Amino acid sequence: MRILVLIAIGLLLYVIVGNILRKKRPSAPKAITEEMVQCHHCGLHILEQEAISLDDNYYCSQEHLEADS
Ligand SMILES: [Zn+2]
Repeated sequence: MRILVLIAIGLLLYVIVGNILRKKRPSAPKAITEEMVQCHHCGLHILEQEAISLDDNYYCSQEHLEADS
């Protein structure tokens, strides 16, 4: 039974370490994608992830998206 417990602990550690390594990898490109974009309506600069995108244009708010379309 001791061997089974050791195998179980080993598998658990393997899964935990695997999850940590998997989480670290996507976080690196995320920082690179934090680019500034310009609102197509008012010219305000905003983070790409906070901007509302429509086709190839970005907008700072829903109002400006609707005002421009
Ligand atoms: Zn705007």
